[in-house]
Amino acid sequence: MKTILIILLFFIGLLATGCNKQSNINLDQGVALINAIIIDGTSDYYIEDGVLLYKNGKIEQVGSKDSIEIPDNYIQKDLEGNTVLPGFINAHVHHAFSEKQLKKWVKSGVTTVRALSSSGSTVSSYIDITKKLNQNINIASLVISTPIITAPGGYGTVYIETKEDAINVVNDYVNKGVDIIKFSIEDNCQQRTWTLMNQENINALVEAAHNNGKRVAVHLTWSRNLKYAIEASVDEISHMVVDQLSDELIIQMVEKNIYWVPTLELWRKVSIIHPVNYDDIAISNLSSFYQAGGNIALGTDYAGYTGEFDRGFPITEVMLMKEAGMTNIDIIIAGTKNAAIVCDRVDTIGTLEVGKDADIFVVEGNPLDDISALTKPYMVVHKGLIIN
Ligand SMILES: [Zn+2]
Repeated sequence: MKTILIILLFFIGLLATGCNKQSNINLDQGVALINAIIIDGTSDYYIEDGVLLYKNGKIEQVGSKDSIEIPDNYIQKDLEGNTVLPGFINAHVHHAFSEKQLKKWVKSGVTTVRALSSSGSTVSSYIDITKKLNQNINIASLVISTPIITAPGGYGTVYIETKEDAINVVNDYVNKGVDIIKFSIEDNCQQRTWTLMNQENINALVEAAHNNGKRVAVHLTWSRNLKYAIEASVDEISHMVVDQLSDELIIQMVEKNIYWVPTLELWRKVSIIHPVNYDDIAISNLSSFYQAGGNIALGTDYAGYTGEFDRGFPITEVMLMKEAGMTNIDIIIAGTKNAAIVCDRVDTIGTLEVGKDADIFVVEGNPLDDISALTKPYMVVHKGLIIN
């Protein structure tokens, strides 16, 4: 009888361990990831036989096996020569306020997403929802922007007419808790014509955002409108333009350190549905911008258009970036460090550095040799919690 009881208890114990696979390590338990290639996201440098220590949700040490002493009470996880990367970030998504979708992302290695303009919900409600969702580290973290700000009759949902309007709108949204200011410079999108904001109001929006320490993301799709954004010194363009991009504009973009989030997956979708070749033009423009030394961050415009976007890891975007001639390491940096920069989160995520959040993506194989390794998650850690 006693033996049966012990066996029964053993199986109950096994079941409980199985169910709690993710949460059976407390956050204050130190963990050592050993026997791994480590790409920390800061440069093309990587560590061949690396060790990473984390505890209480933060990275404590990263380096070669010989340079790090693992404390006795740390749990060691042998990664069998697989590759450790920073958690990926999709810097342009929509329809993200869903636990189910955020779970899908985190399981695929995307530990943060940025919701750029959220139609269909009031700002205060989606800010409250975001705060609540971000308390749950079982799902990907959210970064949020304002809705698209524009002129009356323009492309967007929040209208401004004067410089004063611009300042008030920005201050109001910053006080409510948004991370990024988004506006449009769009006069013809989806065969509909729109009113453009004047340069004075564009400048006022950017100045108000920067006075509040916030970054500015601009929706535009035509290079003829890019000069207004450059003139105002915005921080980021949210789609690659789909007409011929001139060298002169590329030089100005690079000189002003304006980031580009190309959303090539969006342009591929549009080109499948309509008789246009926006994907080819966008890839060619990205290629020129990349060769000129431009800064690129990864974002897909998930759910920003009809058709199925990648729901987990953004492999379509990655493969299209490769078509544009980007190297594997530069694609990884676009999806980690540079995406963290455009999300205004580079102090806490985007690279594997001491003191940053333990947002860690381990993949089978080495993505420097074969980029498709990014679709083979071996282990994901989000803020110190082992997800899978
Ligand atoms: Zn979008």
